[in-house]
Amino acid sequence: MKIEHPYDKDIQEYTFDASNCSNEIIEHINSCEVCKKVSESYLVLSRELKSQPEPVLEFDLSELILDQLNFSKKEPIYNYLLSFIIIMSLGITFFAIYVFRDTFSNIFSANITISNYFIVSVTIFISLFLGLDMYRSYYKKINMLKY
Ligand SMILES: [Zn+2]
Repeated sequence: MKIEHPYDKDIQEYTFDASNCSNEIIEHINSCEVCKKVSESYLVLSRELKSQPEPVLEFDLSELILDQLNFSKKEPIYNYLLSFIIIMSLGITFFAIYVFRDTFSNIFSANITISNYFIVSVTIFISLFLGLDMYRSYYKKINMLKY
């Protein structure tokens, strides 16, 4: 029997897969109390590690991701709101034109002057410009919210 103990690596090999060990090492460990103890402690350590519960995250990752997805799902509601406001404005405009149709027909039939055309065209131009600007700033803000 060799007095020199084998390396830890060899004892681990003996403990978990003795088929690869040389006969010298197997003979030594079988006859040496110290090496047997080391081998047994490796077995105990391995069993303890296997019996540990799986690590669990303290927060629910899927819930966090779903929350973010729900945020982006809210977006169409804003689009519906914008469409609703545009349709309401158009409705109110046409209703006002309908109610004051006599006044409007007077403007366009009786007193056709260059100043009337000028006022109407400037009004339309300013309305278009303001509407376009509101629309652009609305989408800019919505894109900033999306991150
Ligand atoms: Zn030994």
